[in-house]
Amino acid sequence: MTIFDFNKRFPTKKSAIDFIIRVKYNGTYVCPFCGCVHNIYRDNTNNGKDLYCNNCKSHFSVLKGTIFENTHLDIRMWLYAMNLVMVAKKGISACQLQRELGMKSYKGAWRMLHLIREIMGKEEYKDCFEAIVEVDETYVGGKPRKENVHFERETNEKFNKRGRGSSSKTPVIGVKERNSGRVHCVVATANADGQKLTGKQLLKVLDNVCKAGTTVMTDQYSGYNVIDEGRAENTKNFIRIMVNHEVEFSQGDGKHTNGIESFWAIVKRDVYGIYHHVSVKHMQTYMDEFCFRMNHRKVEDGFESLIRLSVAV
Ligand SMILES: [Zn+2]
Repeated sequence: MTIFDFNKRFPTKKSAIDFIIRVKYNGTYVCPFCGCVHNIYRDNTNNGKDLYCNNCKSHFSVLKGTIFENTHLDIRMWLYAMNLVMVAKKGISACQLQRELGMKSYKGAWRMLHLIREIMGKEEYKDCFEAIVEVDETYVGGKPRKENVHFERETNEKFNKRGRGSSSKTPVIGVKERNSGRVHCVVATANADGQKLTGKQLLKVLDNVCKAGTTVMTDQYSGYNVIDEGRAENTKNFIRIMVNHEVEFSQGDGKHTNGIESFWAIVKRDVYGIYHHVSVKHMQTYMDEFCFRMNHRKVEDGFESLIRLSVAV
């Protein structure tokens, strides 16, 4: 939505609240206290934000049980922020959001974005992917500030170490479904023994998002041996096709992991270009944002999907 479309769609506070009510209740109010669906009345003062249950005699906000429940901001600011996140091709930084919304504090803008990312992470991917998927891992983070590059290069031997074994970066496992182009990513934190990217970890991600019998394109990393033919752990009977990057790259036979690799290129461009630094602590929520935006890039209802997740917390 352009700003003109947005203003036309949400000209008043009440119009934004009406929209949230439509998405959340779909015509039937439910009392959060007694579960009653009858005898609930909307009070039209206060922009129509309050409901009254005549069964248990309680007042409640229509925003109860949504991420907007405790906000002091005009709901339109939230909707506009969500719209910005969805239309921005490369994501939006807290600084930019602060400017766009005319917010006083950077922290407030950051928290808003963080909450929107958390909402994106609620999208369900269980048993979503089928037919052919590509799986791969990448390392994100740990890039030094520009002015320190030379210093770090001289002082840190591991500076340019890339890929598996890189100590200053965080591994992320990504799965991409070939047909739909949808992606799902999981940050691989270390297990109790300090190991990352174990076969168990990789299998858990695949088990969660892929239907049984899915063909899985992997590279030669031994972690994926866990889905080799005949392995007992491979309970969903995934069929592994191993891609040898040196020999089989782009031979036109469909054996490749180019799809997930181009997604990594986008992730890295945005992490370093827009967000500059992503801490390990918040890495998963950023990945959730990248996946959500990628998975809703073509469908018109990306904004609406985001609102649906926002009211179902
Ligand atoms: Zn009630």
